[in-house]
Amino acid sequence: MSLLVVGSVAFDSVKTPFGEVDEVLGGSATYFATAASYFTDVAIVAVVGDDFPEEHLTFLKSRKINTAGIERKEGKTFRWKGEYGYELNEARTLDTQLNVFQSFRPKLPESYKSRRVVFLANIDPDLQREVLSQVKEPALVACDTMNFWIGGKRDSLIETLKLVDILLINDGEARELSKEPNLVKAAEKILSFGPKALVIKRGEYGALMFQKGKIFSAPAYPLESVFDPTGAGDSFAGGFMGYLTSTMNFEESNIRKAIIFGSVMASYNVESFSLDRIKALDYSEIESRFREFKALTHFEDLS
Ligand code: AMP
Repeated sequence: MSLLVVGSVAFDSVKTPFGEVDEVLGGSATYFATAASYFTDVAIVAVVGDDFPEEHLTFLKSRKINTAGIERKEGKTFRWKGEYGYELNEARTLDTQLNVFQSFRPKLPESYKSRRVVFLANIDPDLQREVLSQVKEPALVACDTMNFWIGGKRDSLIETLKLVDILLINDGEARELSKEPNLVKAAEKILSFGPKALVIKRGEYGALMFQKGKIFSAPAYPLESVFDPTGAGDSFAGGFMGYLTSTMNFEESNIRKAIIFGSVMASYNVESFSLDRIKALDYSEIESRFREFKALTHFEDLS
């Protein structure tokens, strides 16, 4: 029962209609691992620069996240700058600085190679494959990506998708990847690239899962206050994969439950900037929101 993630560990600068933050802790692997840590033991593969404060690593360790695979290199940490308008569903990227990720050649610590569940978080698809090729016997491989890589490294991304069981992306990314505006047709095309399941995250409209001939729809939690959607996708993936790893049951009914755990973690994450809300959750809060999700969509069958 062990989960491995490769992705970015970053400094994010984010502006939303409700405030802004500068160079706070972020990154796809950071959000993912923090959310997943409520369910299972998780290990990160990433690189940071010599400007990365020790206190951030101390925080990850305090969540029992294995950081042995976070390399520290001379240079600057990955930086991302984005903003959101009142339509909070899609970030507008203002700046991406790969910095130390540009020359990163991951070499997995020995203890990482036997991990059974792998999440290839949003990062260069070449790196995603480089990490996956070092894992001996993965039982489940899932993946995320974004427009930066769909537009910039499409061929490499398609190679990664051949090796993936579950792809989790948002609706805009699904349309861009498939070059198809209709989501049902987009899903069909993406499944033909390799993944057996596709989870499309739709922000405040919930999530859809497509498997060959089957669709599952989950709502989003109707929140009163959304401050910062950054990391919603990654914390969704962290809850989703964390729960699957803790059960090692990949049947459809359990994947449906995992989608709700993912939705719960994403809903907590957007309530504040950076990792502030998901840093210190109580597992009972996760369970109680899971039950609220169940109540939200429960209705009686026809008699
Ligand atoms: P999301 O969960 O989709 O909101 O992802 C937000 C996180 O993705 C931020 O914390 C960023 O640091 C990170 N990010 C943004 N662009 C990239 C990129 N091109 N590669 C890797 N990570 C990125």
